[in-house]
Amino acid sequence: MNGAAIIDGKARASDLRGRIGNWVGELRATHGLVPGLAVVLVGDDSASAVYVRNKRKATEAAGMYGRVIELPADVDQAEVVATVEALNRDREIHGVLVQLPLPDHIDSTMVIDGVSPQKDVDGLHPVNVGQLAAGRQALVPCTPLGCLHLLKGHLGDLAGRESVIVGRSMLVGKPLAQLLLRENATVTVAHSRSRDLPALCRRGEMLVVAVGRAEMVRGDWVRSGATVIDVGINRVIREGKPRLVGDVHFGEASAVASAITPVPGGVGPMTIACLLANTLTAACRQFGVTPPEIFAKNS
Ligand code: NDP
Repeated sequence: MNGAAIIDGKARASDLRGRIGNWVGELRATHGLVPGLAVVLVGDDSASAVYVRNKRKATEAAGMYGRVIELPADVDQAEVVATVEALNRDREIHGVLVQLPLPDHIDSTMVIDGVSPQKDVDGLHPVNVGQLAAGRQALVPCTPLGCLHLLKGHLGDLAGRESVIVGRSMLVGKPLAQLLLRENATVTVAHSRSRDLPALCRRGEMLVVAVGRAEMVRGDWVRSGATVIDVGINRVIREGKPRLVGDVHFGEASAVASAITPVPGGVGPMTIACLLANTLTAACRQFGVTPPEIFAKNS
């Protein structure tokens, strides 16, 4: 039996994007200001190209200025860094995102560290990582921000709730742990060296999975009545056809959980909406205008 409610990330993201579009319109009308987002794409990875195209479309649909800088796969390190530095100085651009992964010969850390912390809408610069850990104002990575707002939208107050995050990447697991601590949840972060992962997962009233392994989390890993957020995006072949599946076995988990995000249509759309939110916030701070309260309470 499929008992879980579906957390509709697409609908929530669409609502958020609509509100961002309204704020962008107000900013233009009252201050003559237009937030700008630049995305740097290196090489010709087809998945990255699709992500970048979607980001640009969403930026423009929200009334912002979007720019994509495409560099060839064999570009040298110095040119990537110089491109980022030029965007840091560019007054039309308030958010800079370098699409990852970069080709092997490019030092990603050096490129990420080159983005101005004020324009770091991916929240990966060590200044933002540290500010978030210290509980101070920071630009926060978009995917965990989206997960947090799906959880708050569904559960309301997260204080005291037992949460389990599987995965400890800088992009998802670690910043999400910080965000949930900020909400006064109790947080366990599991990873590839954790012992008895099924038992750990069963502790979570909230279970967030970001590992990159198709359907790894089975139904009997899920606590009865849990809220499950599946971050994973895995391309698999099922019955001869290409399909996207998450890191959670949706059919099994949804028989046990009280609510679950689908893949696709869960975390993915929220990630893009949160990128727009970060760009608007970064732009307002650079303009010296108070950023709007983007996430309504419990949404
Ligand atoms: P990473 O590869 O950077 O991190 C994966 C994490 O999972 C690591 O901490 C790793 O542990 C852990 N892990 C791997 N295998 C196991 C295992 N068998 N048991 C327990 N833990 C394990 O991935 P990301 O965080 O970048 O992404 C995770 C997934 O989320 C991917 O499917 C990705 O496509 C998806 N994603 C989706 C986004 C969206 O918008 N929906 C955005 C970003 C990512 P260890 O640290 O010990 O190696």
